[in-house]
Amino acid sequence: MTPVMHSKLPDVGTTIFTVMSGLAAKLNAVNLGQGYPDYSMSPELVRLVDDAMKKDFNQYVPMQGYMPLRESLAEKVEFLYGTAINPDSQITITPGGTYAIYTALTTVLEPGDEVIIFQPGYDSYIPNVEINGAIAVLVDLKFPEYKIDWNEVRQKISPRTKMIMLNSPHNPTGSVLRKEDIDQLRSIVKDTNIFILSDEVYEHLMFDGLQHQSMLRFPDLMERSFVCFSFGKTYHCTGWKLGYCITSPELTKEFRKVHQFNCFSCHSPSQVALASFLKNKDAYLSLGAVMQEKRDHFINLMKGSRFNLLDSKGSYFICAKYDRISDEKDTDFAIRITKEHGVAVIPVSVFYKHGIDNKVIRFCFCKKNETLEAAVEKLIRI
Ligand code: PMP
Ligand code: GLN
Repeated sequence: MTPVMHSKLPDVGTTIFTVMSGLAAKLNAVNLGQGYPDYSMSPELVRLVDDAMKKDFNQYVPMQGYMPLRESLAEKVEFLYGTAINPDSQITITPGGTYAIYTALTTVLEPGDEVIIFQPGYDSYIPNVEINGAIAVLVDLKFPEYKIDWNEVRQKISPRTKMIMLNSPHNPTGSVLRKEDIDQLRSIVKDTNIFILSDEVYEHLMFDGLQHQSMLRFPDLMERSFVCFSFGKTYHCTGWKLGYCITSPELTKEFRKVHQFNCFSCHSPSQVALASFLKNKDAYLSLGAVMQEKRDHFINLMKGSRFNLLDSKGSYFICAKYDRISDEKDTDFAIRITKEHGVAVIPVSVFYKHGIDNKVIRFCFCKKNETLEAAVEKLIRI
C-alpha cells in the first residue's frame, strides 16, 4: 500500500520557468522568458576550469568553500563596498543563490515566525518560508514603479517578525533600492531582533549610473543580514549553480550547520577557476554597461509595438503592460503569444501569492542582439 502523502507545499505547482522554457522548446519559440543568457560565457573561464580538472582539483574542497576563492571574494567586497570581510568566518560557497537563500531561511526560521516579503518577488521565497513553518507577510510593491511603501512595512511589523527579505536589483521588475530605502530600513530594524535576507544576485547589473545599495556597504545592516549572490548571473554560467552567502561570523556558524548536512561542499574545479578569474575586475565592472546596452537596444526595437514598457533600472529584466493589446489574464496571454506568435515571456502575476494580475509580462533581455531582434520582429505584429 502506498503511504498517504500530505504535501508540505500544497499550493505549489511547477515553476513558471520550467513551464515556459518547456513550451518555448516544444514550439521552437524565441525564449525571452527564463532568465539566462543565450550567448557563451568567457572562454578564459572555461579554460581555467579545464586546467583545474587536469591539475586534479577533482576531490572535495572544504565544506565552507575553496579558501583562495573566499579570499578573492573578500578582496572584491572590500574593493566594491569598502567593507572588510573575513573570508574564513563570513563567506560560505553554496550550490547557487537559491540554495543560499533557502539555507539562510532554514537557519533562522522557526514555526510561526513572520517574514516580510515584497511582491511581486522571486518565486522561491514564499515556499522557502512556508516549508519552515513560518508565515509570509506580504507587502505589495507600488505599481507601476514597484517601489517599497515603508509605511506599510511599518504597519506589518509585529512581535513575531523574524526577517525582512530584499532583492535589489529586483526580479521580475528591474526596480532597485535607493539610499532613501536604506535609511527607512535602518530606522525600522534598529534596536530590533529582525534579520535581513538580501538577495543581490544581480549586484553588477545596475543601469543609468545608479549605485548598487548592497547591505555590505552598511556595517549596522550587515551584522543582521544574510547577503546572497550567484556566480551564474555574474559570469554568464547559470547552469553552474554556484553562489555564496556573506554574513556575520555568528550567523555564518549557524548557516554552516545547515549547509554541511545538506550539500557539504560544492563543485571543486569551478571554485578553483573562479578564485583566479575574480582578480579580473573588468569582467564584472563592465557588466552593467553591457546589459544596459541590451536593455536600450530592446527598448528601441520595441518602439514600434503596442506594449508599454515599464522602467528597468537593473537586473536583466524589463516588464511591459499589454492592456492596449488584450484584457486576457497574463498567464493566458503569455501562453497564447508563445503559441501564436512564437515568443515566450513570463507573466508577472505568478510572482504574487494570490496571482494579482496587472496585465504585465516580463521580458528577459540578456540575449544575443539577433535573438532580441528576432523576438521583436514577432512582438511588433501583436
Ligand atoms: N534570486 C533571484 C532574484 C534570481 O533571479 C535568481 C536566478 N535564478 C536567483 C536568486 C538564484 O540564482 P542561482 O541560479 O544561483 O540559484
Ligand atoms: N532567475 C531566473 C529567472 O527569473 C530563472 C531561475 C530559475 O529558472 N529558477 O528567470
